[in-house]
Amino acid sequence: MKKIIIAIDGHSSCGKSTMAKTLAAKTGYTYIDTGAMYRAVTLYALRRGFIHDNTIDEESLRKEINNIKITFGKDSDGRQYTILNGENVENEIRGMEVSNSVSPISAIGFVREAMTVEQRRMGAEGAIIMDGRDIGTTVFPDAELKIFITASEEIRARRRYDELVQKGEQPKFEDVLKNVRERDYIDSHRSVSPLRKADDAIVLDNSHMTFEEQNEWLMNRYLEIKSANEDRD
Ligand code: C5P
Repeated sequence: MKKIIIAIDGHSSCGKSTMAKTLAAKTGYTYIDTGAMYRAVTLYALRRGFIHDNTIDEESLRKEINNIKITFGKDSDGRQYTILNGENVENEIRGMEVSNSVSPISAIGFVREAMTVEQRRMGAEGAIIMDGRDIGTTVFPDAELKIFITASEEIRARRRYDELVQKGEQPKFEDVLKNVRERDYIDSHRSVSPLRKADDAIVLDNSHMTFEEQNEWLMNRYLEIKSANEDRD
């Protein structure tokens, strides 16, 4: 069967990557976490001192954007990690410091252009599952399967909070909730490729679903599209 592209977009911390990774493992497709790419650019900008008191030195970042190389590796357990210029930055990009600056960085046009070029290159051969905010609308508007995932703010913040605690951080729940709200607001209101549901995306609200239920739901959507494509071949 034709190798399709699966685009999964949606709000912050609604479990997109968990669902995408599970489907990738079951189908043998490659999973690409575009949020990790924007997080890696943000980490780069933070380390270079381009972000100060919520102000971004865009000109300095623009000069260096082509020096930012982001790739993915896999550890011995098959877990994917993010590599920024040769360094494994997986843990660092998930912390609150990066989370607090990633949406303003992601709203910059030249940052999006650079990431979009890279994402299209990574997905050119098909057989990929890519998650993010603008995959079904901008990066791959012709993706065969588009999913838009959401869940209530409180439930998303709770999931993110639990994840951070598991990783050894000690955030306040209120701060995590505020971050989830702020990111959604900035992501949905930016002028370049704002977060929105593609017209042909299938919506899932997974607020009250277990992991098993949401994974099964996604597998069923994949099987439907697969059999529709086989009929056409
Ligand atoms: O998916 P994740 O929550 O890790 O993404 C972090 C941030 O990266 C988002 O809040 C958003 O600002 C940005 N992002 C984006 N476009 C994408 C993926 C992520 O703007 N395709």
